[in-house]
Amino acid sequence: MDLCSICQLIKDLCYCHLIPELDTCTRISFILHNSELGRASNTGYLAHRSLINSDMRVFGDGKDWRQWQQMNLAGYETLILSSRSSHVVSPQFMQAIEKPIHLVVPDGNWRQGHSMTRKLAFQFGLRTVSLPQMPSSYYPLRRRHNEQNGVSTIEAVAKALDLFGEGDASARLNEIFKTMLDRWLCLGHSESSKR
Ligand SMILES: [Zn+2]
Repeated sequence: MDLCSICQLIKDLCYCHLIPELDTCTRISFILHNSELGRASNTGYLAHRSLINSDMRVFGDGKDWRQWQQMNLAGYETLILSSRSSHVVSPQFMQAIEKPIHLVVPDGNWRQGHSMTRKLAFQFGLRTVSLPQMPSSYYPLRRRHNEQNGVSTIEAVAKALDLFGEGDASARLNEIFKTMLDRWLCLGHSESSKR
């Protein structure tokens, strides 16, 4: 079968040409756990592909992450997303931030995410931040996999961008995420109808 090499769906369902190119003031650094590499259902990768001002690094692939160049980027306020920080993004929190935000987003299962946040925050002296409670994800896979407060990485990033005043980019990210879900659901239906 002819599959797209990137989203791994058949060409009729491929959504790669629909992925937006969003330019944001906020910079996002995705820290992908090695076990997520090559997983087509990984939403962090979709978010990274959609955001021009983003980068992605792989954690746990045997290379020494302590050698990564400094994560506190000049001209940005660098924060790392945590599931349990005492600092929660709020209007008051945002008032105290004077520079554009560089958000470091660990992407793995709950345990991996927590461990990466702890190690990176310590190694690079990053401030942790949590998002306000969000409704649980309707992404069925994510309910089992459970990343940031029970929502997928792309949902967490969309929420963060909204809170940082980048509502348009947030809406477009949610849109492409829904497109991806619809396409995967279509695939599920066509697979089950074959049985
Ligand atoms: Zn594709």
